[in-house]
Amino acid sequence: MASPPERPARPLGPLALNTATTRGQWNLLQAIEGCARHGITGIAPWRDQLAACGVPEVARAIHGHGLTVTALCRGGMFTGADAASRASALDDNRRAVDEALAIGAQCLVLVVGGLPPGSKDLGEARKQVEDSLGELLVHAGAGGMPLALEPLHPMYAADRACVNTLQQANDLCDALGAGIGVAVDVYHVWWDPQLAREIARAGKRILGFHICDWLVPTTDLLLDRGMMGDGVIDIRGIRILVQAAGYAGFCDVEIMSAENWWKRDPDEVLRICVQRHRTVV
Ligand code: ZN
Repeated sequence: MASPPERPARPLGPLALNTATTRGQWNLLQAIEGCARHGITGIAPWRDQLAACGVPEVARAIHGHGLTVTALCRGGMFTGADAASRASALDDNRRAVDEALAIGAQCLVLVVGGLPPGSKDLGEARKQVEDSLGELLVHAGAGGMPLALEPLHPMYAADRACVNTLQQANDLCDALGAGIGVAVDVYHVWWDPQLAREIARAGKRILGFHICDWLVPTTDLLLDRGMMGDGVIDIRGIRILVQAAGYAGFCDVEIMSAENWWKRDPDEVLRICVQRHRTVV
């Protein structure tokens, strides 16, 4: 018996450079020039790189090359041991929203924060995150800046993000209402048995799609991400799921790789990103 026909894949979304990928070699203005040279039409800068080069200079360069700013990375880190530290984190997030508006970003990516120092109470950390998101939404909503909640792989629950599955992120979006969506990063979600269901559930809430690969073995939990095609993630399968859910945006390549890709010629890195985007994603 013939197997049922597969759902045809929609055309691949364009490639964007998350500038973490070349942070070992280039500042943000150099990354913008690099995108222009390699025909990459989208960019997602990080706040520290933006601050180092200056918001007006960066905005001018991005505009001059006609790049789409798919996101600003990142806000978040909401959790804290006391009210003062949480208030200061919230203030910093309001500034991040303003910076995202200043460079015309399509969303602000949020990595929500892990356990507060000295705490073992993950439930309390998650409650803090929901409270802070509710407050940040007031400021973000006023400026019209969508917030993109990025669930992180559970290995980061202690130190980076206590939102660890797309289901959790979707639940938060349901609770918080308009103005907030999710960023789907294959590195963080590929292992999840509920992935297909939760991507379909996220639907139009998907604000970003981040690509890289999971190497076997992975030698550093943060800084050993792989190039698309070098690892075990079914990137194309996940891309087809996010598109079927209604996402029609960019594929943001985000490779933090201290010992490999950050040490290579950055033009070679971009060339390979462009090629793997076509052949693997
Ligand atoms: Zn990401």
